[in-house]
Amino acid sequence: MSTLTYLDASPRPDPLGDAQAQLSAAVGILGYDDGLAGMLAAPRRQLTVSIPLRRDDGSVEVLTGHRVQHNLSRGPAKGGLRFSPDVTLDEVRALAMWMTWKCALLDVPYGGAKGGVRIDPDRYSHGELERVTRRYTTEISPFIGPERDIPAPDVGTDEQTMAWVMDTYSHQSGHTVLGVATGKPLALGGSLGRATATSRGVVHVALAALLDVGIEPAEAAAAVEGFGKVGRYTARFLAEAGVRVLGVSDAHGAVAAAGGLDISALELHVDAHGTVAGFPGGEAIARTDVLELEVDLLVPAAVEGTINAQNANRIHAMVIVEGANGPTSEQADDILRSRGVVVVPDILANAGGVIVSYFEWVQANQAYWWSADDVESRLKERMLQAWNGVQQKARSHGVSLRTAATVMAVERVANAHLLRGLYP
Ligand code: NAD
Repeated sequence: MSTLTYLDASPRPDPLGDAQAQLSAAVGILGYDDGLAGMLAAPRRQLTVSIPLRRDDGSVEVLTGHRVQHNLSRGPAKGGLRFSPDVTLDEVRALAMWMTWKCALLDVPYGGAKGGVRIDPDRYSHGELERVTRRYTTEISPFIGPERDIPAPDVGTDEQTMAWVMDTYSHQSGHTVLGVATGKPLALGGSLGRATATSRGVVHVALAALLDVGIEPAEAAAAVEGFGKVGRYTARFLAEAGVRVLGVSDAHGAVAAAGGLDISALELHVDAHGTVAGFPGGEAIARTDVLELEVDLLVPAAVEGTINAQNANRIHAMVIVEGANGPTSEQADDILRSRGVVVVPDILANAGGVIVSYFEWVQANQAYWWSADDVESRLKERMLQAWNGVQQKARSHGVSLRTAATVMAVERVANAHLLRGLYP
């Protein structure tokens, strides 16, 4: 597991400000009144909990966690659980809002949620992380469940974390509830293809976007920021598709090779050392320089706000596919648009994870398992269908892919509100 680290010299990310600005732009185009706009903007529920943790040395430390359910109009809330020392309630609110739009855009029957615990997982033992996860799950348990809110892995959490969430919730329910979390291990009702789903989706859309701007993937060069659950498989699948991956980074460092990195060798290095830093098959570069390499495609797959007003003018890539949530600040988005850079927005680009989470939930609720081919072909179909829809909307309305995607998603959520009516 890895921590979320912001670059000291960069502007502080403001994910909630970015998310609210995107919603305002969409609401302006859709012409909604203040009442409906307010319902779309406000989180439905937000819960902050204290998590007393007994450390391995016997001392007690009290951590803080959040769970935000942004919108429930189209189904149960859905969203990841993040363990990071930088987590704030506002960050979780932004991420929950993006989940609402992502689920609506991909037409999976969920609202949006997100959870976070303010903790650096690298500094806690396996046993301590288990106790944190179980206590956090207990605190939020009245609000979660297969029909209420379904967590999944995000930054700093993994399938083991989801196994603990599922087990803790099941103990409280008195029976095993496989559908309470997704991204679980295969042996506990996980889905084939879930671990790689976000990256597969990123690469399906990245290849389509490259072709759309006239670049053959076999001729393309790429850079990937972040080498965790999303970045690692993205680099692997890009290399498998013939794209030369010239540079990658993680929280500890970055490497680059002008002729392309050997991603299989790099993965072995990461397995052995826990970081891309020190990989002998490339040259060490500054972490921020990965974003500015001379490539056609850039995939940010780390944290929010790494593409900002400071570096947006120095980015060479003509296609940016947002593996991370909120990697591009509002100002950077404007700069990139004015430069003609194609930015495939997070709510489309990284939706593969929630699509296969949905498949996992369906399988777990029915106790009937699909083949890897079934999962992957359905994932590809949904991703490309969404890509085509967003691209057509952007072209026909003369707006960016982000605005088109947000408008489509917000309209679906608003229609659900209007059809359901306002209770009481
Ligand atoms: P992860 O914890 O597995 O990996 C995060 C990676 O980013 C690590 O390699 C870490 O070292 C690196 N990193 C952190 N700060 C960095 C920085 N400043 N510069 C370069 N690298 C840095 O997390 P993940 O699940 O891969 O999530 C990455 C992003 O993708 C997040 O924005 C997350 O919300 C988003 N996302 C994840 C999923 C999923 O299925 N896991 C789905 C959709 C979106």
